[in-house]
Amino acid sequence: MATQKMLTFVSTPREMPEKRPASERSEDFHEIYREFAASKAAEQSGRCSQCGVPYCQSHCPLHNNIPDWLRLTAEGRLKEAWQVSQATNTFPEICGRICPQDRLCEGNCVIEQSGHGTVTIGAVEKYITDTAWDNGWIQPFTPAQERAESVGIIGAGPGGLAAADMLRRQGFQVTIYDRYDRAGGLMTYGIPGFKLEKDIVMRRNKLLADSGVEFVLNCNVGEDISFDAIRGKHDAVLIATGVYKTRDLDLDNADHGGIVRAIDYLTASNKVDFGDDVPDFEDGELNARGKRVVVIGGGDTAMDCVRTAIRQGAQSVKCLYRRDRANMPGSQREVQNAEEEGVEFVWMSAPGAFAGHVTGIAAEAQERDVDGIPTVAGVRIQKMRLGQPDVSGRQSPELIEGADYDEPADLVIKALGFEPEDLPKLWGVEGLEVTRWGTIKASFQTHMTSIAGVYAVGDIVRGASLVVWAIRDGREAAESIAGYLTGDARIAAE
Ligand code: FAD
Ligand code: SF4
Ligand code: SF4
Repeated sequence: MATQKMLTFVSTPREMPEKRPASERSEDFHEIYREFAASKAAEQSGRCSQCGVPYCQSHCPLHNNIPDWLRLTAEGRLKEAWQVSQATNTFPEICGRICPQDRLCEGNCVIEQSGHGTVTIGAVEKYITDTAWDNGWIQPFTPAQERAESVGIIGAGPGGLAAADMLRRQGFQVTIYDRYDRAGGLMTYGIPGFKLEKDIVMRRNKLLADSGVEFVLNCNVGEDISFDAIRGKHDAVLIATGVYKTRDLDLDNADHGGIVRAIDYLTASNKVDFGDDVPDFEDGELNARGKRVVVIGGGDTAMDCVRTAIRQGAQSVKCLYRRDRANMPGSQREVQNAEEEGVEFVWMSAPGAFAGHVTGIAAEAQERDVDGIPTVAGVRIQKMRLGQPDVSGRQSPELIEGADYDEPADLVIKALGFEPEDLPKLWGVEGLEVTRWGTIKASFQTHMTSIAGVYAVGDIVRGASLVVWAIRDGREAAESIAGYLTGDARIAAE
């Protein structure tokens, strides 16, 4: 009987796919986890207790039918498992790799709460769809019926791509505009290969192109083509541009050379990974090789920077974060991976100034000035302690007077988060309303903005978020756009 393969969590311990040794993986940009063997995927899936009310599913932003695909995997019915999995997720193999599962599906698995260790949901999701690719089950699709209506999508990140996929399957003519030379958004140029190898994203882009989605790359909307021109060409428009304005530091000497933005640093590294010529990497500006690197921030972007610097051959890599380990926003799994690879975390620490200003290391900075432009030589580190909780319940960091010290550094990477660009101003669009945070105002149900026929999804609406949420938004917006274009008021609602 089918259920005999399930509920084995009492006798079978949780196991992740094998992780490559730190000494090996810190030499390259390949993913750090190996694939499950078929027998291991089946064994681990069989640990699921097939909950009547599956909390894993309710805490997955896509409400993936997790218990069903686990049961099918345990029974070796992988094609059916893939069919169930891809019915609710446009990129299951990507989410399986990079969702912070400890905060979503796995963090809410009931067997974890009974002390048995969560089912390895993400690793099984990845395994199922990797198997589908290997077996040729995933092929370009032809819509049952072509439709005349067209949709212009600005931004080829997960939000835009997920919407494109859903709309194209329904026969709409879909064009995606992106300012980068490759599609994928932050999946291509933000997230490093050791979390998500680039061919995984590129084959998804190709699948969409082969299914009739038109990509217009190297096209910066607002510069190369106006927003109004895009509106004029299409019957509906979706804005999925993400957030790219880097939060900055208002500190002395913050304009010194060698102090760089995380997005520039990671984009350069990903381009090198593709084999592109990257002058700013070649000349050393965005290359950590041989340097003492300090990364400022405690989120996922900071984790990606520190681990990239290790792989580039940095002399030392330190991560400054103003709270403690328990209160950092980045995934604990990524912190552990970084520590294994040789990153040092300097908790309860914030930058106070950069060298040039810092006593004791100013002279060294002077010597290293290149062409009269001062180059960073160190960071003045201020020590913090945790004070009273703020309105969000998190303890606020407070400065410990007199505990400052100087940390030498040749490369400082600012990974303090991202904010939205001022799109209405950049694009000269009247009537496109934004929130007080600068994100685009869109209905949570339909994703329509303040302009009829213009929709918005992903980070540009939510603020910096996750791939899985952008996918969900994109899929929902596609449904609304389809309703709007076909006059089906039931799904176009509002
Ligand atoms: P994006 O992925 O940002 O895509 C937007 C696209 O719009 C880009 O391709 C951009 O070039 C294009 N664009 C912008 N403006 C224009 C314009 N004017 N004209 C034309 N094109 C334009 N999430 C996870 O779930 N797991 C992770 O491990 C993870 N790691 C991350 C690591 C880093 C370093 C960063 C920065 C983010 C990470 N995230 C992670 C967050 C995740 O990548 C984003 O939430 C997600 O990509 C947002 O999707 P999106 O489609 O809204 O925007
Ligand atoms: Fe978990 Fe993300 Fe997959 Fe949902 S999409 S099941 S949250 S890994
Ligand atoms: Fe299975 Fe855990 Fe989900 Fe329950 S919560 S259905 S045990 S994966």
